[in-house]
Amino acid sequence: MAPVRHPFPRRDVTTDDAGRVLNWARNAELAPAGSLVSATSEAEVSALLASRPGRVRVVGNRMSSGRLLAPVAGEVLLDVVGLRGLLARGDDWATFAGGTTMQEVYDVLAEHGRELPASPGVIAEQTLAGALATGTHGQGLQQSSIGDTVLSMRLVLADGTVEDFDADHPWFGALQLGLGSLGVVTAVTLRTVPGRILTCAKGASSAATLESDVVAWNRDHEMSKAWWFPEDERVHVWTAREATGAEVEEHRAGGGQLVERTERSTAMNEAVDAALAHMRADTRIVDSQGKPFRTVTRFKDFSDVTGDVYQVFMRGIATPQINVEIGVPLERAAAVVAELRAWYERTNPHLHYPIILRATGPSRAWLSPSHGQDTLYFGFVVYYAEDGSLSAEGAEFLVEVEKLLAAHGGRPHWGKYFDPDLYDWRSLYPRFEEFAAVRDALDPERVFLNAFTDRLFARSPVGAAA
Ligand SMILES: Cc1cc2nc3c(=O)[nH]c(=O)nc-3n(C[C@H](O)[C@H](O)[C@H](O)COP(=O)(O)OP(=O)(O)OC[C@H]3O[C@@H](n4cnc5c(N)ncnc54)[C@H](O)[C@@H]3O)c2cc1C
Repeated sequence: MAPVRHPFPRRDVTTDDAGRVLNWARNAELAPAGSLVSATSEAEVSALLASRPGRVRVVGNRMSSGRLLAPVAGEVLLDVVGLRGLLARGDDWATFAGGTTMQEVYDVLAEHGRELPASPGVIAEQTLAGALATGTHGQGLQQSSIGDTVLSMRLVLADGTVEDFDADHPWFGALQLGLGSLGVVTAVTLRTVPGRILTCAKGASSAATLESDVVAWNRDHEMSKAWWFPEDERVHVWTAREATGAEVEEHRAGGGQLVERTERSTAMNEAVDAALAHMRADTRIVDSQGKPFRTVTRFKDFSDVTGDVYQVFMRGIATPQINVEIGVPLERAAAVVAELRAWYERTNPHLHYPIILRATGPSRAWLSPSHGQDTLYFGFVVYYAEDGSLSAEGAEFLVEVEKLLAAHGGRPHWGKYFDPDLYDWRSLYPRFEEFAAVRDALDPERVFLNAFTDRLFARSPVGAAA
């Protein structure tokens, strides 16, 4: 039987880059090594742009899909991960260089007893500027994406000049999530709040009432995250609240490490074993301690925990994958869950990782999937096989499920994988044209353009005849 055609690229599993620059997942070749320019200071970025080098695509740790990162063929790929570290700090703010990893941001803040007023993503290997440019987010309706904690940003613009933009600047909503198309972010000032300790209750519940449960978990708790295993009709749910004085004391007494309660539950073990069996068949990875397996085995024998927001929620294991994440308005979440369930029962699609459910409050960023509305994100993951291929069933699942969510007004995560043909950006994002106008003003010569942004901002609606 001919293999099913799907839109996702294979991974390069060789260790030899052979003069090429790849993205982190090694599923996209971005440019020949000769096109890569690494800057370590704002002055270098400024001098490069002032020299009119042609088109420039800026990258951080290259964890996004290839299309977001790849420069126009033969043009410059600018790596700014050398611009890193804390630049200045006050009581309730801190300024970091754009290439600083989120891990370094969180570590520096923790040293001073502070945290961001936005919960983290599952990993912290991203650069700060990269996380902002794609709308990176965690969970909790009382907060939104990391970009919503920004007080000001400093950019090197297309002509090499440097400009600071404060939160009250009329263009700020564009700059908070700029898709690398407005300028090179060299410094970011973030609002900080006192670090807190949370207790996260972990549970297992039936998926039969997920429609109402997922809304209630998010409305009733400061932060919630859930993993839906449709095959077993089970949901693993985490709900977090501020820890009590006694729990804080216990955490302190343990040297500030995550406290795991001794009472453990095996309620998810069967569903996890079923997912692991699919994963084993799909990835053909034999090492049961391999990274993809660890991302689900951690749900076995679970217990409640107490720790800071990073210890509790930043539990991801960065594993090469195709990850589709679509935000839908929270008010439509119940309808989407019901339709997903019906679709699952009808077609019995293949998935080897549970569906991830995270909600955030409204984002100010004009192109954020949660712009202007409480949003429930549905995340779908398919891991690569050892040989760099992707299971055809897993890929087909991603293609079909995205269509279903797009039909519900879903907005895809910019840094992950999505089919641009499914979306009419102008009707999805009420401020899309304003973003395009800011881009016209900041980059009239399209220095930061690549094939993806060129198509995204094309004047004719997506999908219309050329
Ligand atoms: C394993 C894994 C887990 C993830 N978990 C989450 C999660 O929990 N939540 C979530 O929301 N997302 C998550 N993501 C998505 C991730 O946060 C984004 O892909 C993020 O953009 C990666 O940061 P980066 O530094 O690698 O940026 P890159 O991928 O290098 O760049 C992303 C974009 O930022 C632009 N850019 C980079 N640096 C600059 C700069 N200095 N100035 C201007 N533009 C710039 C680039 O042009 C590009 O458009 C995850 C991704 C992976 C691979």
